[in-house]
Amino acid sequence: MTSPDAPAATLADVVDIVHRRYDPSTAAEWDSVGLTCGDPDQPVRRVLLAVDAVAVTVEEALGWGADLLVTHHPLLFRPVTSVAATTPAGRLVHRLVRGGCALLAAHTNADVARDGVSDALADVLGVRDTAPVLPSAAEPSTGVGRVGDLDAEVSLGRFAMLVRDALPRTAHGVRVAGDADRAVRRVAVLGGSGGDDLAAASRVGADVVVTSDLRHHVASDHLAAGGPALVDVAHFASEWPWLPVAARLLAADLAARGFAVVTRVSTLVTDPWTDRL
Ligand SMILES: [Zn+2]
Repeated sequence: MTSPDAPAATLADVVDIVHRRYDPSTAAEWDSVGLTCGDPDQPVRRVLLAVDAVAVTVEEALGWGADLLVTHHPLLFRPVTSVAATTPAGRLVHRLVRGGCALLAAHTNADVARDGVSDALADVLGVRDTAPVLPSAAEPSTGVGRVGDLDAEVSLGRFAMLVRDALPRTAHGVRVAGDADRAVRRVAVLGGSGGDDLAAASRVGADVVVTSDLRHHVASDHLAAGGPALVDVAHFASEWPWLPVAARLLAADLAARGFAVVTRVSTLVTDPWTDRL
């Protein structure tokens, strides 16, 4: 525990610390990670973590007096030529800059890393002894997704209830494809949209895959090919478990350098789907 009188880190310090855990050079080529706005010299005493930089989380950050909002999804994805407050993203940039709150995104770099999004998802689901589904060439202990084993075999139906209870509640809920009585023990998790990597999850011997955003034909073709059962959760819910992990590591890393910081994890559900009838 660092004394509350300890000096505040600068934004540059915090960015450096986050990037040591979640190296931006490991992000996908199409991605846009790192600082969206903020002055590297500004002090950072309060950090809010959220999956998305949207109006409600930006308001939460400003209302709490955060100096930095760390999100998983980048606010500005594609190249932009204007951040005028004439677009939703431009308005948020204005709100953040006026409120003195920086914005930092750790996206695909946080997906592949150790203690990243898929590690956190595996952990809350009780999946042990994990390895990447698709190991990175440069560092095979990191990579896309994680596969590992539950402590004991359970039915698919029971496992789906475990998933429901372990993740934030959303209107999307938990969708299951497969025989509810089928036994599962080896679990692959693909945080975020995992539709492109289902074949890889089959190859590593998973009994069931937990991911999100699965489309009709992707799920149907995968099952017809004899692939593992599918558990489809809200995209937001699959990524949220990373936030407490990232908050804990950030606080510990800053304390190790003698800096005081207060972190908070947003519990607002930013999944765009709000109802299911
Ligand atoms: Zn995502």
